Amino acid sequence: MYLHKEVETLNSDGLKKLQAVRLRETIAHAIRSPFYKSRRLSPDMIKTVDDIRKIPLTTKQDLRDNFPYGFLTVPKEEVVRLHSSSGTTGNPTVVFHNRHDLDSWAQLVARSLFSTGVRPSDVFQNICGYGLFTGGLGFQYGAEHLGCLTIPAGAGNSLRQIKLMRDYGTTVVHAIPSYLGRLRDVFAEEKLDPRTDTSLRIFVIGAEPHTEEQRRRIEEMYGVKAFNSYGLTEMNGPGVAFECAGQTGMHLWEDAYLAEIINPDTLEPVPDGELGELVLTTLDRQAMPLIRYRTRDLTRFIPGACPCGRTHRRIDRITGRSDDMFIIKGCNVFPMQIEGILLRIPEVGSDYRITLEELDDNDEMLVEVEVKPDWFTGDITRLDRLTREITRQIRDEVLVKPIVKLVETGSIPKSEGKAVRVFDKRPSSKGI
Ligand code: ADP
Ligand code: ZN
Repeated sequence: MYLHKEVETLNSDGLKKLQAVRLRETIAHAIRSPFYKSRRLSPDMIKTVDDIRKIPLTTKQDLRDNFPYGFLTVPKEEVVRLHSSSGTTGNPTVVFHNRHDLDSWAQLVARSLFSTGVRPSDVFQNICGYGLFTGGLGFQYGAEHLGCLTIPAGAGNSLRQIKLMRDYGTTVVHAIPSYLGRLRDVFAEEKLDPRTDTSLRIFVIGAEPHTEEQRRRIEEMYGVKAFNSYGLTEMNGPGVAFECAGQTGMHLWEDAYLAEIINPDTLEPVPDGELGELVLTTLDRQAMPLIRYRTRDLTRFIPGACPCGRTHRRIDRITGRSDDMFIIKGCNVFPMQIEGILLRIPEVGSDYRITLEELDDNDEMLVEVEVKPDWFTGDITRLDRLTREITRQIRDEVLVKPIVKLVETGSIPKSEGKAVRVFDKRPSSKGI
C-alpha cells in the first residue's frame, strides 16, 4: 500500500516535530550560502515549525540576482548536477544538487509513483524532454528506484512513441497533458486505438496547468487512470505533490517540504481551505536549500483526511500561476477558466489559443478553438450555433464577451515544450 509506510502515515504531531528538526538542519546548511548568510538566520530561531514566519520570503528575483552560485552551500566539488527551469516566464533559474539531494529526490518520485498504483512490474515510458527540464531525469531515476523497466523516450516523435509502447508493452506513461491530445490524433491516423491496441493503464500528467475536464478526456481517450503531478525546478522538480489512487487532490510530501499558503498581497497566511499562493521550504536538501520560496502557484489545502491513510496534507489542482492571469476590460481572467468551459463541450477538440489584441481602440479577446474533425464539415448553421454557445458560456464565466473562432483540428501551432495558451498582442503589453 505504501512505499515508505512509516513516514507516509506519520500523525500530524509527529510530522510537525520532524519538520521542526529538519528546518533547523536546513537553516544550518543554508547559512553557508552567501545569500542566506546575509540574512542573518540561525537554527535557534526555530522552536516549532510556525517560527518559520520570522524568516523573510525568498523570490525568483532573489534567485536571478544571485545567479549562479549565490545560494550554493557546499564546495563545487560536491555538486553533481544542475537543473534549470524551462524559463516559461523569463530568465531561467538554476538549482544545484549533491548526491544526497539526488537520492532524496529519486525516493520522493518513487514514493509518488507508488501511491498512484505503479509497481516494479510496470513498464514506464517517460515522454518528456531529457535535458535541463526536471521531468526527464527526475522521473527516470524515480521510476528506476521503484524498480520499473524505464524507457527514456524523450519528447516528441509520436510514431516512435507509439512503437515503443507496443514493442515493450508500456503500462505507465508520464507526459505533459497538452501533448496527449496530439498523440491521440496520431494513434487515430495509424488506425490504432490506445484503449485496445496497447497495455496502458496509468498516466502521470503534470508540469503545466490543466483542468479536471482535461484529465477526464485523457482518461477516456486512452482508457487509463490519469494522476496529477506537481513540482517545480526550484523544489527539485516532480515529486513535490502527487495524487494518490483516490484522485482527490495531491499529497504534498511534508517530510521533504514545509508548505504555507499565503495571501499574495498581504503575505499573511490564508485561513485553512482558502485559495492563496503556495510557499515552500525544502527540508531535505543540502547543496541548495530554499527557505520560504514563493512559487507564485495558486492553490489551497484540501481539508480533511484522505481515505488512503496518508497523513500528508493535500493541495488542490493548481488554478494557475499568479502571473498567468490577464486583465481584459477590467476583468481578471485565468486561462484555466476558459479551458474548463471548452473541454466540457463534446464537439471541441484538444487545443485552443487565446489572443488579446486591440481592435478599433478596444481590447478584444479572441478565442480560437479546434473542433473535432467530424464536426468541422460544411454545415454552417451547426457551426454558428456552436460558436454562439461557446461565446455565451465564456462570457457568463469571465464576464467578457470573447470573439470565438472555430478552427480545424491540428491548425493551431504547437509550442515545443509546455503549452502556451495566451498571446497578448496589445500595445500596452510587453508582447508575450
Ligand atoms: P518554468 O517555471 O520555466 O515553467 P518548471 O519546469 O520548473 O519551469 O515549471 C514549474 C511550474 O510548472 C510550476 O511552478 C507550476 O506553475 C507549473 N506546474 C507544474 N506542475 C503542475 C501541475 N500539476 N499543475 C499545474 N501547474 C503545474
Ligand atoms: Zn490519499
